[in-house]
Amino acid sequence: MQLTTPSNENLIQITEISKLETEELERLNSYQELVKQAEIALKNSTDLKALESLIAQIQDSFSKLSINNQNLYLSSLNILKNSVQELSEIENSIKNHAEELKQATSIADITNLQQEAKEVQNLIAFVDNEPLKEKFISDYQNTLKILNDITPPVIEGITDQENAFQPVNVSILDETTTNVLLNDEPFDPSQSISDNGDYILEVTDQAFNKTIITFQVNIPSNELVSELDSSLDFTLPLKKGYITQNYKGSLHMGVDFSSDDKSEKIYPIAQGEVIYVGTDNYGANIVKIKHEINNQIIYSTYGHMKEVYFQEGQIVSNQDLLGIMGSTGKSSGEHLHLEMSTCDYTENCDYSTYKMNILDPFEFIPYKPKW
Ligand SMILES: [Zn+2]
Repeated sequence: MQLTTPSNENLIQITEISKLETEELERLNSYQELVKQAEIALKNSTDLKALESLIAQIQDSFSKLSINNQNLYLSSLNILKNSVQELSEIENSIKNHAEELKQATSIADITNLQQEAKEVQNLIAFVDNEPLKEKFISDYQNTLKILNDITPPVIEGITDQENAFQPVNVSILDETTTNVLLNDEPFDPSQSISDNGDYILEVTDQAFNKTIITFQVNIPSNELVSELDSSLDFTLPLKKGYITQNYKGSLHMGVDFSSDDKSEKIYPIAQGEVIYVGTDNYGANIVKIKHEINNQIIYSTYGHMKEVYFQEGQIVSNQDLLGIMGSTGKSSGEHLHLEMSTCDYTENCDYSTYKMNILDPFEFIPYKPKW
């Protein structure tokens, strides 16, 4: 067989191909050089901005590679990009948290930040770049210290976003309180808030920890009140006790009273006739008393009773011992559930009518949170 010498035309083609290959090789070398630089920086540089611009250069260099080489190096490039992005996210979180902490105005804001800070601390723990890890820890130190130190004043009586249906009594469980503002005016927490309206309560302590609670007081007006027979006195059903849950309309149709004495004596809230002594659907012992005010009938119901000392048909007054507080029926502890209504479903209305006609007992009984 005879060897043919390449024609001139073929030579040019071969030269061009090898020139192309050489150029691709050069591009690949410079790409890999940049990647190497980035990998070193990832391990020991604290300058994330420089690292990010290096990644931009690498991306640019990558886009000039042949399709074959791009396919070959794509996944390693993505890993590199993700590593840098993760570090940038940690850096941003640290910056943002310092800023958000300055803007925080509620317990919820602080709780969120404390939660996010835990996640960021976890991420920092896995940073495989000692100098950067140290920088992160030191940059975050101040924010974390403040977040750990913050114990906002605790306010009792109302909770965030509450719609209060009776006068609100505020107690502040923080002796270091320096400033209590209600709608930007100085507020004395021993006063109760009884006017309908929107309120912003702001409590600050010596360490500038701040709690802000917004709520609305919405006490339903009840025409019965103005028609009250002054001879019918309403009194609390316990001689000593406190309120564990207020009336919230259909959400909680009565008021829960409790006492340090689990066998506290229960008295009628006003003079009336005992019309029912028995149990409810959950097995709670209940008593119902019918009261008459200016020819209008209202009912009071006493739930979860341990003992009842009267029978249907008997007339009782405020001073009669009606029975003993208990935890019968659907109850998690000794308390009295007191409900009032303008109709009585055991006698003259169905349960849904009853629900629509319930009354806030504190429209009748002088309100006290604790006595
Ligand atoms: Zn209750």
